[in-house]
Amino acid sequence: MNFKRWGIARCAVQLLMIALLASPLAGLAIFTGNLAAAELLGLPLADPLAFLQALLGGRVFVLSYLLSALLVVGFYFLLGGRTFCGWVCPVGLVTELADRLRRKLGTGTQTLPLTLNRWSLALVLLVVMATGVPLFELLSPIGIISRAIVFAALLPLLLVAAILLMELLVARRVWCRSLCPLGGFYSLLAAFSPLRIGFVADRCTHCNDCLKACPVEEVLQPSLELNHPQVVAGDCTRCMACLDACPAKALKISIGYQPVSRDVTDPLKGGR
Ligand code: SF4
Ligand code: SF4
Repeated sequence: MNFKRWGIARCAVQLLMIALLASPLAGLAIFTGNLAAAELLGLPLADPLAFLQALLGGRVFVLSYLLSALLVVGFYFLLGGRTFCGWVCPVGLVTELADRLRRKLGTGTQTLPLTLNRWSLALVLLVVMATGVPLFELLSPIGIISRAIVFAALLPLLLVAAILLMELLVARRVWCRSLCPLGGFYSLLAAFSPLRIGFVADRCTHCNDCLKACPVEEVLQPSLELNHPQVVAGDCTRCMACLDACPAKALKISIGYQPVSRDVTDPLKGGR
């Protein structure tokens, strides 16, 4: 049996995030706020998309707000933008559990394109520019779950339940893969991040276990099919499920940019 050490580490971080969000309820002063704006041990942090919406919506510009958003941007740039989705976002944890159930039931087999999340990001920004209303902050399941934990605001959870139902019955991981504007924002950032998943072509036996484990398998395909040495697509959540799944240890953490070698040939067309 393959020991899922990354899966355990990721689950621990996801649960820690929920504990941090709930910590003020226990009278602790480590973390205050929610995932849109918070203070961790006195350090102000801001969701960059929430900041962008406030800026485009014509609200007062505050330098400290910009700096807190830049701090978060810098952190996720280094780790790979959608690391937020794989390790921090409470919606990711909930949709992961729903996905396990969906697999057991054999329902919701459709797949929507990953690129939709860039369009939903554009839509959110256009709406905020046209109306001044920070649409995503009001309707985001991320905010809804954060507020449910922090303020026990339970009624809006019905929207999250509707998303989960759609994932179970219609298309798999539809929110995180294709609809979330914050995922779209971080995927643009992640395309330039130095921390990536590396691929050692000589070790790969093409068993496809990594593809089955990956929540966004399209990002792995260029490596498996064309021997690309790294996963470069911004939608890789750095969840490391592929590292846990690979029996041949052909996937690894890779720091820095590795260009595709010119003599790499397509194995599907009879290369090495
Ligand atoms: S390529 Fe690996 S790390 Fe990236 S999303 Fe897929 S399973 Fe997760
Ligand atoms: S799990 Fe490992 S050996 Fe199997 S296809 Fe993926 S990279 Fe290759």
